[in-house]
Amino acid sequence: MQLFKRDERLELVLGLVAEILKKGVVRCPSTPSEEELLLEALDFLGCRCPPCGDKREYALEELGFFEEISPPRFRVFQSTEELLYRNWPTPLVRLASLSSGSQRVWAKLEFFNPFSMSVKDRIGWSMVSDFLARNPGARVLLYEATSTNTGMALAAMAAIKGLKVKLYLPATIQRASDTILRVMGAEVHRVPKTLTVEFVGEVDELARREGGYHLNQFENNANFKVHLRYTAKELDLQVREASLSLRGIVGGIGTSGHLSALSLYFKSRYGKSVRVYGVQPAPGTVIPGIRRVESGMKWLHYVEVDRVVDVHPDEAIKHAIRVARSEGLFIGLSSGAVVAAFEKLRAEGLVEEGDYVLVFPDHGFKYVEQFSAFLEREESQHK
Ligand code: PLP
Repeated sequence: MQLFKRDERLELVLGLVAEILKKGVVRCPSTPSEEELLLEALDFLGCRCPPCGDKREYALEELGFFEEISPPRFRVFQSTEELLYRNWPTPLVRLASLSSGSQRVWAKLEFFNPFSMSVKDRIGWSMVSDFLARNPGARVLLYEATSTNTGMALAAMAAIKGLKVKLYLPATIQRASDTILRVMGAEVHRVPKTLTVEFVGEVDELARREGGYHLNQFENNANFKVHLRYTAKELDLQVREASLSLRGIVGGIGTSGHLSALSLYFKSRYGKSVRVYGVQPAPGTVIPGIRRVESGMKWLHYVEVDRVVDVHPDEAIKHAIRVARSEGLFIGLSSGAVVAAFEKLRAEGLVEEGDYVLVFPDHGFKYVEQFSAFLEREESQHK
């Protein structure tokens, strides 16, 4: 089911983005319409336009492709906003307990982001920065539907920028989220529903009626863009730094922002040798932060994903506990789902020799209620 309208312009721009990533070079366009398209593509890529009139091909690196990723050596930051965007890359760590022989497994730890301790800090920053760039000095109330992480990221960005946010949480999310978000200064509303396209549509309508602005992580291209300009590029730099033979990336799908950007980037730049696997909750189940593809995703429609793997919440919890007990990392439920999906792919013989990157979106602290219920259930079964 296609719940998002096909955006022909976006398709054209992302087609050009893929072509540029594949070739690794850019040439100055010859017509104004080509120039307009190129400028849009370069904005997604985060690099400068080649000097006009010069007809030679410029390598992406000559146009500042990697310049935005510049962490300070001794981690001194001038503001908490800098603490976010100048602290990237988030760490990439080899997990010995998941690696075996010539198959090496690495985790990209998104809980190293400072505000929501999740991958969502990236889009909170990107969507608010983009909004303020287009509406300088705006004092409007920001609206968003969230399963906690985007809400925390937006509350933090709002605090930094002197704005206010109104957040709508689905019923299925842990109770602690209300307190966390209120402490961070957000106005919080619970909706007795799961996070569906209809739910997001209702928040859109409310924002319109009440004169606010709905950032809408599900449709806002600043989401996809930040993952292309930062998440994917920084992983590329890390893969090169560690001389990995990258064979696959596994990641959860919520808005589809981070996995779609990683897929577009790595498949365009390195071809089919890099497989990309998405993870969704098994039918009729809930894993916070990720959703079933048929519930509506925007960017996934413009990229190639090799396979989407179903994971049951109990499998996600079991693998999160396994990682905690073998690696000392207390990871969130969608991270556990990513590990479970990787193990399913391995059991099917789809994991080859080489390096695999698993994206861990967040930390386990937000899911203490779910972990607690799981442990109690296990203990009562063993009595
Ligand atoms: N995992 C968690 C914990 C999340 O909060 C999210 C997004 O809400 C995801 C995974 C999925 O990320 P994306 O929205 O980039 O698909």
